[in-house]
Amino acid sequence: MLPTAVMEKAQAEFLDWQSLGRSVMEISHRSKEYIALAETAEQDLRELLCVPANYKVLFAQGGGRGQFSAVPMNLRERGDSADFLLTGSWSEGAIKEAGKFLKTNVVAGVVIQDGLSTVPHITPSQIDQKSAYVHYCSNETVDGIEINDIPDCGDVPLVVDMSSNILSQPIDVSKFAVIYAGAQKNIGPSGLSVVIVRDDLLDFAMPEIPTFLHYKTMAKHDSMYNTPPTYSWYLAGLVFKWLKEQGGVEAIAKKNAEKAALLYKCIDESGFYLNKVHADFRSKMNVTFHLPNTDLDAIFIAESEQAGLTALKGHRNVGGMRASIYNAMPIEGVLALTKFMRDFARRHK
Ligand SMILES: *Cc1c(COP(=O)(O)O)cnc(C)c1O
Repeated sequence: MLPTAVMEKAQAEFLDWQSLGRSVMEISHRSKEYIALAETAEQDLRELLCVPANYKVLFAQGGGRGQFSAVPMNLRERGDSADFLLTGSWSEGAIKEAGKFLKTNVVAGVVIQDGLSTVPHITPSQIDQKSAYVHYCSNETVDGIEINDIPDCGDVPLVVDMSSNILSQPIDVSKFAVIYAGAQKNIGPSGLSVVIVRDDLLDFAMPEIPTFLHYKTMAKHDSMYNTPPTYSWYLAGLVFKWLKEQGGVEAIAKKNAEKAALLYKCIDESGFYLNKVHADFRSKMNVTFHLPNTDLDAIFIAESEQAGLTALKGHRNVGGMRASIYNAMPIEGVLALTKFMRDFARRHK
């Protein structure tokens, strides 16, 4: 979900933006009004994430998967292989795509300890120091695994797919070479992606790279080499403003921790629901859980939908349930879910 306040503002100015008598969708991306919007959005994002001056912020097209291709093509000239953490289906997708452009080495993956998923800490000795880059995904939505322990890769550039937990908590941008995120979880509508790239990495693209994916070209044209997704960028800008009004990333991180803690507590105390991720790697964005037997899954889905609680079905690869509680989900939504879950458990134990 997107913040209701943002949707209402967009609705109110849908036909007439800034008294121009037109929608923001209908004005040129080269107009001074739109350029001001674009610059403000970038500035707000920079403030929210404390992005250092030696990083470019790009508003790109093609979502998260677009960057699965763009990253290897932009860094290919640094080396002919890259190292990867394989921790779930998103990192797997990134590896598969990168494999079209360079050799891919998986250096670590999920380790099951006492039945719970964990991810090992990465040290430079595990990394091929000739690698073009190291890639990992900081939040695997399907499995509900979040990695907050940033891999230590020595001097090899670290690339992270932060699609599903960007802006959910403070991060130290300087630890990364490239941060990318499809917009549709915590930023705005799908299709847009945000790329934060350290400026010494702009000159390593393979010559065959499609121009609109080329970070250096994108940066040179302030993300307007081709017409950007103007309406998505506008909505992202409204979300950044909303986030600042909430007190910024630190304040939303507190709320996110509180929301996730409520849900995991409900699961752990139930003697009914089961989450199989180690406490250190439990996602604060996607809480996954299983019912005692799969026959109950359909009943849980039907009853929860009747209670107005939607989109709880787990990914088809893992089954069970998944509650996605991104930034815009209010705590009331989580309280309604835990109330329903307790009641459901009581009735079906
Ligand atoms: C949602 C998500 C994506 C999605 O990519 P799209 O191309 O925008 O569909 C990629 N990576 C992660 C980690 C995600 O959570």
